[in-house]
Amino acid sequence: QFRLDDQVAVVTGGARGIGFAIATALAEAGACVVIADLEVAGEQSAHQLRERGLQAEFRPLDVTRSAQADALAKSLVEHYGHVEILVNNAGICRNTPALETSDEEWLQIFDVNVHGVFWCSRAFGRVMAQQGRGSIINIASMSGIIVNKPQPQAAYNASKAAVAHLTRSLAAEWASAGVRVNAISPGYIGTEMTKRGLENPQWRKDWLELTPLGRLGEPSEVANCALFLASPASSYLTGSELVVDGGYTV
Ligand code: NAD
Repeated sequence: QFRLDDQVAVVTGGARGIGFAIATALAEAGACVVIADLEVAGEQSAHQLRERGLQAEFRPLDVTRSAQADALAKSLVEHYGHVEILVNNAGICRNTPALETSDEEWLQIFDVNVHGVFWCSRAFGRVMAQQGRGSIINIASMSGIIVNKPQPQAAYNASKAAVAHLTRSLAAEWASAGVRVNAISPGYIGTEMTKRGLENPQWRKDWLELTPLGRLGEPSEVANCALFLASPASSYLTGSELVVDGGYTV
């Protein structure tokens, strides 16, 4: 039920962190994984998977450019003939008090975290609806559910709440076409994104105290949930949001 043999999976922001863990889990389940990322480092990440005998390739993609998302979908359909899985994982976060947030920063966060998710979902949702099957997984955040005090992240929080509701909206529209759309909302996971925050002893202490499981999550623990949502094991889930936060939001 968790095998993905002969399926093509696109993971945006798959070069590192949670995205790379998801790319790894999907490739281990037999999928041919396309790491779509800004970073040229994505080539190295795909190479790492190929060295283990897994199927992976890197394609450059800036999710904020809808034309690039459309071109990638077209190119992958020409190359593979089908795409079954899209993981909208690319995302950015800034810790800026609301009164100090510039227009540019607000727009940049929404460009990547919200517009990017929609451009890629539309490009690949079209392909999946034509195929009559597909699974889209959006990486939202517990910050879209609760406000993470004392970190000032109004733009990030709002962008992730938008991702969760976009997930439900697309799930409702595309269910009849055989396309499932679900979200994962992680809590604190040890990656580049949280590295700076963890260096702040007070934040680190707060994060661990507020997490009932008493530790940060591993990228692989988010990846396991993505594998479930990508696979037929989750065939009756659409529009759902799996909260993977060690109990932070309970
Ligand atoms: P990360 O910073 O380690 O990795 C993000 C990846 O996205 C990088 O490879 C980066 O190059 C890529 N990326 C950024 N902008 C892009 C763009 N415009 N186009 C294509 N790729 C782009 O972050 P991470 O911690 O692995 O986070 C992955 C996702 O999980 C994000 O959406 C983030 O908001 C979400 N998330 C992370 C945490 C956490 O604690 N780490 C918690 C909740 C949600």
